[in-house]
Amino acid sequence: MNLYNTLSRKKETFKPLHKGLAGLYTCGPTVYNYAHIGNLRTYIFEDILRRTLHYNGYKVHHVMNITDVGHLTSDADEGEDKLDSVARKGGKSVWDIAKFYTEAFLRDIRALNIKKANILSPATRNIKEQIALIQLLFKKGYAYETAQAIYFDISKFKNYTELSRQKLSEKIVGAREEVVVDSEKRNPRDFALWFKLVGRFENHTMRWKSPWGYGFPGWHIECSAISTKYLGQPFDIHTGGIDHINVHHTNEIAQSEGAYGKPLARIWMHGEFLLTNDAKMAKSAGNFYTLATLTEKGFDPLAFRYLVLGTQYRKQLNFTWDSLRSAQTALENVKSTLTGLSSRANYKPGKETPKKIVSYENKFKEAINNDLNTPNALKILWDVLKNNTIPTALKKKLILDFDRVLGLGLEDIKSVNVAVPDNVMKLVKAREKARALQQFIQADSLRTKIEQLGYKVEDTAKGPKTSRLPKR
Ligand code: AMP
Ligand code: ZN
Repeated sequence: MNLYNTLSRKKETFKPLHKGLAGLYTCGPTVYNYAHIGNLRTYIFEDILRRTLHYNGYKVHHVMNITDVGHLTSDADEGEDKLDSVARKGGKSVWDIAKFYTEAFLRDIRALNIKKANILSPATRNIKEQIALIQLLFKKGYAYETAQAIYFDISKFKNYTELSRQKLSEKIVGAREEVVVDSEKRNPRDFALWFKLVGRFENHTMRWKSPWGYGFPGWHIECSAISTKYLGQPFDIHTGGIDHINVHHTNEIAQSEGAYGKPLARIWMHGEFLLTNDAKMAKSAGNFYTLATLTEKGFDPLAFRYLVLGTQYRKQLNFTWDSLRSAQTALENVKSTLTGLSSRANYKPGKETPKKIVSYENKFKEAINNDLNTPNALKILWDVLKNNTIPTALKKKLILDFDRVLGLGLEDIKSVNVAVPDNVMKLVKAREKARALQQFIQADSLRTKIEQLGYKVEDTAKGPKTSRLPKR
């Protein structure tokens, strides 16, 4: 497998630290709001990575954190704690907010066929480990205390900009007005490891006892503590969205490598942004859609997954409703072609041999092993689907094997109710009404109209069942 490593800016052959096992850490959601579909694009990329590792025979040990404390309104240490602020405004407890949005996140990933991490660990369950890590950073001379907080002194860590390759002068921190500047900070770019309950955080709800008095951890320390706790250090692969390169992952590396004097992870992978109207989709910009926005409009969540797979994870993807519509049609076509397979004798003996099958398998593996080239993988899926000389049973087997990576839910094809468009549903309802009134001629003519639109309706004990007619 070749994977692009942000650290080396090169594609590298994946060699696990432990034979047959891949240790994977993916930064998780900040649970103060629903995930938007940009966030979900990143989780889909990580899921494809995990499934590709598995497809290549590795056992994957996947760890993800849940950020339920310490992530301020900017990724640097500005503004309020995201969860605290939402809880306060809504008159709820921070714990309720965290629980509510963690459950929403789990529902979203389930709907998108994203496999849940083997270990999903909230920051608030790892306070002891975070405090211990900060203490170690004190011991090693990287941490210092002010009246407001504990900071990491970046001037002490030589390779601070190794991942981002930025000049330190480009790392502008704290340009906004509401920023409370800590005059005791040695360097404006130093980042917080622990916040004390003073000033803006005097009434912060989540608080823990520490050697520096009551307070709460900064955002970055949780990932250093959780990844090392469950995967050791170094581990194989660390991922996130590209916005994590300059601040969050740079700070994770400084903390973990400062504390233990060895690399945190071997390969760093970053997913590009999902855009709307060519601008980054972001909660703060207000230009975002959630998965519910999509399903309320009648889209299948897996149509969004299909859309995401159509672009390689390192390229930007501009979201439009038209592109989602096309993805939904394409996915429905995959499903209906697959459903129609058993009824069609599409095998012309002698023309194709299983050799062809092996070549498709190889091409598919080549695509996904080339830094997760999902658009090519989808092309190969379509080549197989369209090739009417492959025996049906082999074709199905091959497609379902590809779906171990693509995760389009094709193994459930029989139970899948392909989304039916509104105009067809209207006709189905009108037909039901006509039947109830015993207007059978009218009902039959509605059935014909439904079929002309490419759907069939079957009358079952539970009512009418509408599905896509196989493509001719
Ligand atoms: P957050 O919940 O804000 O910590 O973000 C969760 C994940 O989504 C992180 O890995 C981010 O880098 C990623 N992310 C944020 N915005 C976008 C976007 N517009 N497109 C793709 N990924 C994003
Ligand atoms: Zn992280």
